[in-house]
Amino acid sequence: MMHENVSMLAALAAAGEDQIIFDLAGIEARYEALVRDLPGVSVRFAMKACPVDEVISRLAEKGAGVDAAGPNEITQAISSGVPLERIHYGNTIKSDRDIIDAYRLGIRDFATDSLEDVAAIAACAPGARVFCRLATDGQGALWGLTSKFGCSAADAVLVLEKAREAGLKPAGLSVHVGSQQMTSEGWQSAFERLVDVLAVLHRGGISLDYVNLGGGLPALGYLDKRGEPLDPPMDKIFAIIREGMQQCREVPGHHLDFIVEPGRHLVADHGAIRAHVSRLSRRQNLNGERQYWLYLSCGKFNGLYEMDELQYRLVFPSHRDGEHVLARVAGPTCDSDDAYSREHGLVQVPEALASGDPVWVLSSGAYAMSYMTQGFNGFSPLPYTCIGGMEGTRR
Ligand SMILES: *Cc1c(COP(=O)(O)O)cnc(C)c1O
Repeated sequence: MMHENVSMLAALAAAGEDQIIFDLAGIEARYEALVRDLPGVSVRFAMKACPVDEVISRLAEKGAGVDAAGPNEITQAISSGVPLERIHYGNTIKSDRDIIDAYRLGIRDFATDSLEDVAAIAACAPGARVFCRLATDGQGALWGLTSKFGCSAADAVLVLEKAREAGLKPAGLSVHVGSQQMTSEGWQSAFERLVDVLAVLHRGGISLDYVNLGGGLPALGYLDKRGEPLDPPMDKIFAIIREGMQQCREVPGHHLDFIVEPGRHLVADHGAIRAHVSRLSRRQNLNGERQYWLYLSCGKFNGLYEMDELQYRLVFPSHRDGEHVLARVAGPTCDSDDAYSREHGLVQVPEALASGDPVWVLSSGAYAMSYMTQGFNGFSPLPYTCIGGMEGTRR
């Protein structure tokens, strides 16, 4: 398992100060495993999960493209060496200016989900290829991503017909089953929707080249709120995806290639934070109970933005043995959301923890860099280090 990653543990042990460490070799290995599990599928890394040049470059060298959300991410992808034809404007939300800028940068693939957006793409990016995003219910995912993106099957047909009329190329359908999708059923229902819409499009004389399966593939090393391993059923998920792709291929009238846009699946388990103990303290709450609190140097605003939905594996390298106590874990700021919630289980922590002791936060590589604030409450964003081929890189 990834939390046994020897080079990561060595790098954490060697880190004298707080930082987030990315293991490029580990990220590359996860990419290669994914390509083996989904043969023939093109991978576009969802940049927002880890907008780090070294990570993007390494994935691009291996053949990956990126899903970018706007001109700034597109610019970063280009400068990190991603070939233009592998950069996709995957955000359904864009202003006219954004479309014009992306088109000038050379982007020709755009996600969409509305007639208004299609009209804007036709005006600002003439002849571009469009991918219509279908809504999904997000069931089975930690973050559902339901209502903000994607349209109904009926709207998807209208959107792609309108795209064709407007001189655009109706190129594909896309979905996103919800982030950290824990079930194969979540994928199954997305494929049922895709197959239905593909059949309707065929009857309407529209022939597509792509199905974009989006993100949602899970990280493997998270704990749930109660501290139990989440353990997603990867074999089952990949089997359902392979089966679903076959069902899509059997719909007449299309010649489909498949794309996936993993974000957290590629990077979460190959990033880890070296933080330190701010304080382990004990105080009486309003109910008269005495409760331990473990305050870490990092929290929701500098590395652990997703701490409201899960627990991370914590390692206390200076206290492997000795008495443990149950504590609530929190970050260092004056914001009460900067903590595990009341629904979270308490965490076993060494009773002897002292201020300044190192703490390792494992599987924290996804959505850490991009959610770090520019110093909320004066706490700095974490610097990052890459290992696994670019030793010593430090920003
Ligand atoms: C964020 C995002 C992804 C990646 O999602 P993960 O759950 O991290 O895999 C993929 N595609 C699009 C369009 C996204 O917005």
